[in-house]
Amino acid sequence: RGGAAEPVIPFTQPGSLTRVYAVTSGKGGVGKSSVTANLAAAMAAQGLSVGVVDADIYGFSIPRMLGSEQVPTQLDGMIVPPIAHGVKLISIGMFVDDKQPVVWRGPMLHRAVQQFLSDVFWGDLDVLLLDLPPGTGDVTISVAQLLPGAEILVVTTPQQAAAEVAERTGLIATQTKQRVVGVIENMSYLTQPDGSRLEIFGSGGGRAVAGSLTETLGYDVPLLAQLPLDIKLREGSDTGVPATIGGGGRAPADAPAAQELSA
Ligand code: ADP
Repeated sequence: RGGAAEPVIPFTQPGSLTRVYAVTSGKGGVGKSSVTANLAAAMAAQGLSVGVVDADIYGFSIPRMLGSEQVPTQLDGMIVPPIAHGVKLISIGMFVDDKQPVVWRGPMLHRAVQQFLSDVFWGDLDVLLLDLPPGTGDVTISVAQLLPGAEILVVTTPQQAAAEVAERTGLIATQTKQRVVGVIENMSYLTQPDGSRLEIFGSGGGRAVAGSLTETLGYDVPLLAQLPLDIKLREGSDTGVPATIGGGGRAPADAPAAQELSA
């Protein structure tokens, strides 16, 4: 009481039509950011108005994956996000020194995430994607508090200690009542020249996470996709043109992982 008014987050206002998805994973390096960037670019290419909040403090990579080196500008006290491949994006990496590790504590991170949601001129978005840090740390909890209506998308590998990921994600979702929309298994296999699939990282992780979340949460949490290892996905991310829109040197139709994600 009597304090400054809480900043208004447009996505939580009654009548907001924006679908908000928080992309999460149990650990780093499983392709969470690649999935986020490729999904965002694919949706923008399909004509949707898309925004991405890169809140992965330990590995902000969305600007690089979308080929943006722009910094946000200011207008009337609002932050104007850069646009890359039709995607409006804001990243914690835009506000810190590249060479310095981010050592912010919880309250500062919370304020940063809050600002990304309330002080950025997003306009009318169809979809907002948030690339969360792996695990269930401060940012994940802040997002749960700030965006209770956000839906959670879990990215995992086939080998991941599935039970653990599912348990932690399930716990958060139960507490926050956020809905888990599904699981994407990444790096599921490598297609060999003879067409056979080599399961480099084993198999079953995605299905196990989905099954376990379904049980914990009491509603169907589907395994949405199993994305192959795909050199074009990696190249697209490295060159700043996501494979879903033709990055990696070939049409998305020829990049199996990109094709799956576009669908
Ligand atoms: P995370 O966000 O989970 O830390 P990234 O999206 O940064 O993971 O992916 C880690 C690395 O793996 C990146 O170099 C990325 O290009 C690569 N990568 C991710 N998914 C695939 C895939 N399906 N095929 C090939 N490389 C991939």
